[in-house]
Amino acid sequence: TQAPVNVTVTGAAGQIGYALLFRIASGQLLGPDTPVKLRLLEIPQAVKAAEGTALELEDGAFPLLAGIDIFDDAKQAFAGANVALLVGARPRTKGMERADLLEANGGIFKPQGEAINAGAADDIRVLVVGNPANTNALIAQSHAPDVPAERFTAMTRLDHNRAVAQLAKKLNAPVSEIKKLTIWGNHSASQYPDIFHAEVAGKNAAEAVNDEKWLAEEFIPRVAKRGAEIIEARGASSAASAANAAIDHIYNWVNGTPEGDWTSMAVPSDGSYGVPEGLISSFPVVCKDGKYEIVQGLEINEFSRGRIDASVNELAEEREAVKKLGLI
Ligand code: NDP
Repeated sequence: TQAPVNVTVTGAAGQIGYALLFRIASGQLLGPDTPVKLRLLEIPQAVKAAEGTALELEDGAFPLLAGIDIFDDAKQAFAGANVALLVGARPRTKGMERADLLEANGGIFKPQGEAINAGAADDIRVLVVGNPANTNALIAQSHAPDVPAERFTAMTRLDHNRAVAQLAKKLNAPVSEIKKLTIWGNHSASQYPDIFHAEVAGKNAAEAVNDEKWLAEEFIPRVAKRGAEIIEARGASSAASAANAAIDHIYNWVNGTPEGDWTSMAVPSDGSYGVPEGLISSFPVVCKDGKYEIVQGLEINEFSRGRIDASVNELAEEREAVKKLGLI
């Protein structure tokens, strides 16, 4: 049998962590043949809660779960990590300025990047979930100069899945018939869910919808503001769906995207589609043999261009802001 894969999860005692860890332990992150060792990182005040979750994980008697270790020190938590899910972050609280938010997260993602650089396994793959995810990923990456830059990614898969579900509903089609949808840009309200290249049962989805008003005034804002809609309904932010998306992101990265489809991941730009090099921006990607590639050659119409540029500009501003703060 295969040696266990080390999976480090930060913010393990949080809401997303609670939903995520059981899915990982059951084999859904990497597949049914891959044993996993969990390495949980928490801040000291939350270690006890993480220990409680670990007791429950033990009670799952998961055949693939080869061990659980809990740390409050990043260097130890990332030692030997093959997969790192960076979920813990400093949420924006009322009255907090963007610079304060970025600074607080710099204090988290800088040492985590350094710890990944120092001790993670050679095949380390990093997914940042904690917001502002794209820029937090950029901070971590810039402190891990020995790790190939493309191993640092941020999550837009929840946005992708939300958009697939909304489009399927509109077209009265099963989600399995929706392919090639793209989230572009930042995981924020400026993100752009693009259906112009999407397909429904093999036909162009934008043509099938044929309703630009719905696209501009319902679909795009609904996807972008879905997080707020969930909070409004549940009284708590989305956790299980975010965990589900993190599972999907890593599963596809490691095991590939299905033939004839792609997914959305925020990855370091190579300049494709006019996105400035180095920004961690969401693109359509195909995964194969454990690697991802940005889908090339898509025609970007005027409607899409303006929206992609707006979201990418926001990322460029965030990069400027963290540069000014000395975080990258
Ligand atoms: P959650 O587990 O609900 O969320 C964690 C992070 O995921 C937040 O930054 C949140 O952003 C983000 N997120 C990204 N996408 C989504 C989405 N679609 N829906 C909801 N959240 C999303 O937060 P909790 O407060 O329950 O738990 C956080 C845990 O992290 C705590 O246990 C805390 O102790 C820990 N922590 C650990 C650190 C470490 O390991 N070094 C550092 C900091 C915190 P948003 O705020 O925008 O919702």
